[in-house]
Amino acid sequence: MPPGGRMGGPLGGQYLTEEEKANQPKVTPELLKRVFSYLKPYTKQLILVLLCIIVSSFLTLLPSILTGKILDEGLLNKDIRALVFYIALSLVVTLGASLIGVAQTYINTWIAQHITFDMRNQMYKHLQNMSQRFFTSNNQGDIITRMTSDIDGVKAVITNTFSSILSNSITLILAMIAMFQKNWILALVGIVIVPLFTLPTRSAGKKRWKLTNESQQVNDEVNGILNETLSVSGQLLVKLFGKEKYEYEKYEKANRRMIGLNIKESMAGRWFIVILTTFTSVGPMLIYLVGGILMMKYDSSLTIGDITVLVALLGRMYMPVNSLLNMQVEWIRSMALFKRIFDYFDIPVEIKNADDAVIPEKVTGDVVFEHVEFSYDPSKKILKDINFTLNAGNSIAIVGPSGSGKSTIVNLIPRLYDVDSGSVTFDGIDVRKLDLKFLRDKVGVVSQETYLFNGTVRENLLYAKPDATEDEMIDALKKANIWDFIEKQEKGLDTEVGNRGLKLSGGEKQRISIARIILKDPTIFIFDEATSALDSISEKKIQDAIDPIIKSKTSILIAHRLSTILAADEILVVKDGMIAERGTHKELLGREGVYRELYETQFSKAIMEESGASELEQYIWGVQPADE
Ligand code: ADP
Repeated sequence: MPPGGRMGGPLGGQYLTEEEKANQPKVTPELLKRVFSYLKPYTKQLILVLLCIIVSSFLTLLPSILTGKILDEGLLNKDIRALVFYIALSLVVTLGASLIGVAQTYINTWIAQHITFDMRNQMYKHLQNMSQRFFTSNNQGDIITRMTSDIDGVKAVITNTFSSILSNSITLILAMIAMFQKNWILALVGIVIVPLFTLPTRSAGKKRWKLTNESQQVNDEVNGILNETLSVSGQLLVKLFGKEKYEYEKYEKANRRMIGLNIKESMAGRWFIVILTTFTSVGPMLIYLVGGILMMKYDSSLTIGDITVLVALLGRMYMPVNSLLNMQVEWIRSMALFKRIFDYFDIPVEIKNADDAVIPEKVTGDVVFEHVEFSYDPSKKILKDINFTLNAGNSIAIVGPSGSGKSTIVNLIPRLYDVDSGSVTFDGIDVRKLDLKFLRDKVGVVSQETYLFNGTVRENLLYAKPDATEDEMIDALKKANIWDFIEKQEKGLDTEVGNRGLKLSGGEKQRISIARIILKDPTIFIFDEATSALDSISEKKIQDAIDPIIKSKTSILIAHRLSTILAADEILVVKDGMIAERGTHKELLGREGVYRELYETQFSKAIMEESGASELEQYIWGVQPADE
């Protein structure tokens, strides 16, 4: 199947859909150059294909030429040996052409597969460099389509469109040369007919196309009526309003239109065949007539065999001409396909390594936000003048209403996005100047939507540290409060997570992902704390895993639970993309601001709801220094 999907009807007439017409690409030299740049590494194989095409086109035409010999030297000369020889030669030549055809298909497929292999890899690499913005703003289905069916389309273009254009053009040229060589006058007579023959093909095709479109519309209409009126609720409505007759008449009318169109559609094909047959026979007849007159009156060297050969060659020309005419549409579709793929390649890499990116020898982990402004789309500013300093070894809790910009702030640290203005520095160096891999190695994020790859617990842990030992893994799992659970599993570390194996709860997944971060051992930890989805026991376990990290490592946490907040050295209250307040819990509570409001509506309520509330509360207030 050609890219874009639809093969032409039995007429071979293919037309572009309205959408394709609207998106018709400009075939510029640049576009062609770019398309051919993909063929370039396979020049040798392409030359081989070209040779195959030339030889097989020639061999396919040869039997037509040999017909003349069979007639003149065999039949008319009454020479049995010559007759058998030429017949045998024709057969051998035909077989040879087919064999070369097989080789050609193989090389063609080989080239097409290799080109798509190159393209897929290149695209995958390119997509991996795309920013988070790309993945959040593009439909995942679209991305996969580019990777799969669009690139598959290229395969079809190379194996079908390109080679068809080549082989048809070569056959046509060879047939013409052969005709002119035999007799230029008769060749001209034959060729004059060719354009005449193509006219009805075009117009009948167009007419049929129009009818097909129309009947498609009526078909949609009929289906619409059926869907609406034959459903439970539809029928109920029809019955209660007594509209049976009305609906029937509507249906009958559409149905009748469809019959008319279907009949017309079949007839468009028939008329075409009548015209086509006439035209196809006019050509040979003209050659017989003019050839006969020439042979009898003017040129005694012209033989019956010659005339027959010319007729046969003419017959060989119709197919390629017709194919090439249809190719025009195929060609446009192919170019559109390449253009679509190139458009994807041309999306600039938004977050990339600076040319002079630095890798510091030692990092302590200070993070400073200075006048940071950020927006996902230019019309709506998300972060406004964010300033804060996180000193190495300390921790900051970010709190605020949902949608206020908390996750956005932390996303700027590992450069999932870049600031619009202002700066984020890591150890005094702007993150945009740091080597990207280095930076991301130093930043460990546990996000709300925990993602574990389909595989075993071990594989998921090794993702963070490929050379981790068994002991290191177990240690990390212990610290993450999940070892007890994994240990109990029959296969231990080799337990499958994800859909093929164990069904993990949100909390368990979260703790495995914490173990993964502990193994990664970054300089700064970022926790986007999981919220209400977890039950209080799971929360407590996660809490116990996170707490020691917060107390000992440089960390930022987006916190929803009071106990987590209290473990941090400083609290930033974010509202509408701005830092509304900052300070310790005590200070903030005293201020009657956003924090106090949050505390009263969210945190204290959450505490009261928990079963072990009083105990937990004691714990909370216990960690809080008496008075600051
Ligand atoms: P919080 O973490 O405080 O709940 P976020 O930082 O996730 O808030 O979101 C802040 C604002 O940015 C919200 O209005 C949200 O709709 C918007 N936002 C978040 N992510 C994207 C994105 N990828 N594209 C566009 N807008 C986004």
